[in-house]
Amino acid sequence: MTPPTTSGNRGLLQAEPLIFETGHATGAGVDLPEPKGAPTKLNGLTRKAALDLPGLSEPETMRHFVRLSQKNYAIDLGLFPLGSCTMKHNPRLNERAARFEGFADLHPLQPVATVQGALELMDELAHWLCTLTGMPAVALSPKAGAHGEFCGMLAIKAALEARGEGRRKRVLVPSSAHGTNPATAAAAGFTVDEIPARDDGRVHLDDVKAKLGPDVAAIMITNPNTCGLFEPEIRRIADAIHEAGAYFYCDGANYNAIVGKVRPGDLGVDAMHINLHKTFSTPHGGGGPGAGPTVLSAALAPFAPVPHIVLRGRTRELREHAHGTQAFGRMCAFHGQMGMFTRALAYMLSHGSDGLRQVAEDAVLNANYLLARLKPHFSAPFGERPCMHEVLLDDSSIKPKGVETIDMAKALLDEGYHPFTTYFPLVVHGAMLIEPTETEPKRELDRFAEVMIALAGRVNAGEVEFFKQAPKLTPMRRLDDTRAARQPKLRWRRGDNSAGARQAAE
Ligand SMILES: *Cc1c(COP(=O)(O)O)cnc(C)c1O
Repeated sequence: MTPPTTSGNRGLLQAEPLIFETGHATGAGVDLPEPKGAPTKLNGLTRKAALDLPGLSEPETMRHFVRLSQKNYAIDLGLFPLGSCTMKHNPRLNERAARFEGFADLHPLQPVATVQGALELMDELAHWLCTLTGMPAVALSPKAGAHGEFCGMLAIKAALEARGEGRRKRVLVPSSAHGTNPATAAAAGFTVDEIPARDDGRVHLDDVKAKLGPDVAAIMITNPNTCGLFEPEIRRIADAIHEAGAYFYCDGANYNAIVGKVRPGDLGVDAMHINLHKTFSTPHGGGGPGAGPTVLSAALAPFAPVPHIVLRGRTRELREHAHGTQAFGRMCAFHGQMGMFTRALAYMLSHGSDGLRQVAEDAVLNANYLLARLKPHFSAPFGERPCMHEVLLDDSSIKPKGVETIDMAKALLDEGYHPFTTYFPLVVHGAMLIEPTETEPKRELDRFAEVMIALAGRVNAGEVEFFKQAPKLTPMRRLDDTRAARQPKLRWRRGDNSAGARQAAE
């Protein structure tokens, strides 16, 4: 396919090569005089050849990164319907607080007497997380949801070993689970036993009971689950798990749907991670830092990882050992992601408990509004009942007409939207998972719904080629996703031509 313009530039957006291609060893943003006769202490080890770094002037550098940023879709540009990711607006107030130098410019090895405010903030955040979830303890240090899962599963392992039941190795995971759940269980040294999906998208008590035995260590359940449904038997499942001597890990990535409404502690949860970068406001999706604090029940609290924050008199201390605890170890070098802690607490304090409850209510309301608008035009496998915070569609109304889920996603790109989550959860064929979040006004929901409905109209009109050609208007057209995953090209060498590779992809 020939590019639509001679330059590869398109509609006021300029094509941008790699910084290594435009930069040159002699270029620089600053111009300093050569040091005169400064003695070197390198004893003949001075580098002879120039370092092959991309030197650029300040304006060139600015343009490079601004052009790249223009190729990025962002929540600040529009609705970001990526299901299970909770792509909500992040209030700028939280950004401001995270940049206060008393939080942003700390060194993790600073004397503890000089970071009392930061420790107090962490303590306060821990208090909010424990209160909201109804759990007695929280480990703040995990750096992502998956890392929080790992923390919870290591606490479960330590608790089993302390009971002399380290032989319990089997972890039950429903087939609708996020891929991180079985991966975490395996990484923590357990074996994964899958609970098969049922037609109603829920986990059934009978199916769990049929799997229980003296070798079961834990169950990992997501609630609300990845089909966007609340698990109605969750309390009885927790009881059955506990009776069998096992623990209940809850994947709390979907906590946004129930924050302030349901306390996971009341559901019998033993460990649950909370993605601060989903529920509690932090820019998310760009590969930046995450934070997955893990709340723990009384049974698991003694095994929480170090460090512990301990209040002595009026001073807070960071302790590697605390009385009566049997920490399984530590999750990371220091104490977690300070910037995210600050954003999360600012978010909680500015919403208040009533505001957080409204977050959940509005998130669920927005999803149900979209479900109601899209249901007449698409197949919504569980759409006969209200959903929680996300709308799940399958491909059964489009596939017989020759259009796949991936084609719908690519067509959305031309319409100016980042696609919904595709092909997840796996239990639904050709899944399209849409999570609008609470921060979308009705006007934006309507705009998005109208685009989706118009696309459904094109499917029904038999415009298969329209979909197979999409995206037509993005800087890149359809890339070979499979080849990119199987044979990733992670290194650029001088002489490689990214622009050439790009045109080949066209
Ligand atoms: C996002 C997500 C995770 C993993 O969280 P990360 O922060 O990306 O590691 C786990 N489970 C579910 C259901 C999720 O949506």
